[in-house]
Parts: sequence; C-alpha cells; structure tokens
Amino acid sequence: MTRKRILITGAAGFLGSHLCDRFIKEGYHVIGMDNLITGDMKNIEHLMPLEHFDFYHHDVSRYIHIPGELHYILHFASPASPIDYLKIPIPTLKVGSLGTHNCLGLALAKGARMLIASTSEVYGDPVVHPQNEDYWGNVNPVGPRGVYDEAKRFQEAMTMAYHTFHGVETRIVRIFNTYGPRMRLNDGRALPAFIGQALRGEDITVFGDGSQTRSFCYVDDLIEGIYRLLMSDYAQPVNIGNPDEISILDFAKEIISLTGTDQKIVFKPLPKDDPKQRKPDITRAKEILGWEPTVDRQEGLKKTYAYFKSLPEEDLYKYAHPRDFK
Ligand code: UDP
Repeated sequence: MTRKRILITGAAGFLGSHLCDRFIKEGYHVIGMDNLITGDMKNIEHLMPLEHFDFYHHDVSRYIHIPGELHYILHFASPASPIDYLKIPIPTLKVGSLGTHNCLGLALAKGARMLIASTSEVYGDPVVHPQNEDYWGNVNPVGPRGVYDEAKRFQEAMTMAYHTFHGVETRIVRIFNTYGPRMRLNDGRALPAFIGQALRGEDITVFGDGSQTRSFCYVDDLIEGIYRLLMSDYAQPVNIGNPDEISILDFAKEIISLTGTDQKIVFKPLPKDDPKQRKPDITRAKEILGWEPTVDRQEGLKKTYAYFKSLPEEDLYKYAHPRDFK
C-alpha cells in the first residue's frame, strides 16, 4: 500500500501531537515538524520509533524542504496562549505570516491540500454573540493580542489568495478554546493554570471579576472536526468548538470541585483586551461536516485532570508561577 504523506507543523505541540496520532492511526506517513520553542518532544516520543513517522527539527518561518511526495499539509505551528505570545511576539507574527507563506509555497509546489489552524481570536473581543463565520471581528492590532490575532488574520487572507489565485486546495479551521491532555502546565491558560494551582495547593487566580465567558472543547472532538474538514471540499472558514459557554468564575469553581480541593479564589486584574465573551456558532460545521462535539465538560475535565495528575511532581513546581499582568 502506498501511504499518503502528510506534513504537520507544530507536531510536538498540544494539537499537533494529537493530529500526528490521528493520522498515524488513519494509515498515513506523517512528517512532523517543530522548532520546539513551545512544543515538547515528550508529546511525540511514542511516535519516534515508528517507520511511518519522521521528525524534522525546523522553524517553518524559514524555507521548508521536504523531499518526495506530499499530499497534505496541516499548519499548526504557533504559540497559542496569551502568555506565550507576550513573551515571544515576533516569532508569533512570523510563524503566522512567513511560516504560512512557506507552507503555502510548499503546497503549491507539491500539489498538496493545506489546512491552516486559525482561531476564534480573529473575532477579537466580539460584539456579535455567538460568533459565526461571517462576522469580521473586533481586533486591536496594536494591543498585546495583536501579534497573534493579526498574524492569524493575515494567514487566512494569504491562504485564500493561494486558493483563488493559484488554485491550491485550502481549508481554514477557526479553533475555539480547546483543552485536554498534553496542554502545557505553564502556558498561562485558564485550565492548566487552575489545575496546576489546585495541585500545588495555591489560590486560584481569576482575572477580572470572572464574568467573562469561554466555551471549552475537548481535544478529541476538535481533532475529529479538523479531520472531517480536511477531507471535505469546503474552502471557507469553519468554526470548530463546543458552544457550551461558561463564565471563568464558574469554571474556576468547577475545577475546585473536580480536584476535591478547597482552594480559595483570588481576583487579579483583567489582562488588556481580554475578550468578554466567546462562544462558537457551529451551524456551518454541523451542516457541512456533520460535526458536533460529543464530550461534555465534566467528562473532558476528568480525563484532563487525570493527565495532569500523572505528571511527575517536579513538573508542577517548575511551573509554579502563572502569568501576572500587574
Ligand atoms: N484566566 C484567569 N486566570 C488565569 C488564566 C486565565 O482568570 O490564571 C482567564 C483569562 O483572563 C480569560 C480566560 O481565563 O478571560 C481564558 O483564558 P485563556 O488564557 O485560557 O484563553 P483565551 O481565551 O483568553 O485566549
């Protein structure tokens, strides 16, 4: 059997590594690429011995060379949490822009179909709720999130241009907050921050008054949505996320009851431009892909907590200081 060959950028990251697993399972030859700035080889070390997995330690913002045939490209390389892109703003801008351009050039040269990881951040601090794909967003280009949001907006524009001008087969997924095993404990996101704090016996830090909302999708659901979108013939953006919306304060309380601890909640200043509400309208994903989430938050959180608890204890203390936006 000749296997289809797929390049996955950001392969050692949270989503990239789950995608590698999925495409190995589907019988593909997977080429993983990562510069390991935010990725971790631990996420893919189980794949390294496999005959049908290759790993390239490479920064996709520089020219990409892949020998041989290539059928698909999934561009998932990017810092993806607010604390990461505050720490490394320029690589964040580069991977969304130059990295995407390099991947699209490669897709054109190889005749590959390419799917890019876009984000609900393209909607910024949305004034339309829930967000559907026709909403153009409310983004502050020069705020702290601008480096991520604008890179991703540029990424979508560049991808559409390669589609319309060069005829490259492209797919755009707009990913809403996703959680699950292999999230980084120190990435500053609400879920790993709260679970890490609970496991260390620290106060839970809620930013602002906690009335801002998010809608959390379990990683397995997201991967299924991405798989279906890649296999579809639909080139317009598609939201993939779980519409079950919750305030961050209630979410913190859920984590406290999940971990069975009696942590105190402390309130910290709300970071600049932190979106007040976020919930995907998934009508398009339902209609075009027949997709909707199947894992509810209670079940997903249990699995995620089990993962974090299984990590070596020293990892908890390496990451003892979540972001502080004073
Ligand atoms: N948040 C919080 N405490 C933390 C980390 C995050 O209250 O220790 C809030 C953050 O301000 C935001 C929400 O949780 O309103 C989700 O943050 P996250 O970084 O997970 O993702 P975002 O959706 O903002 O990109």
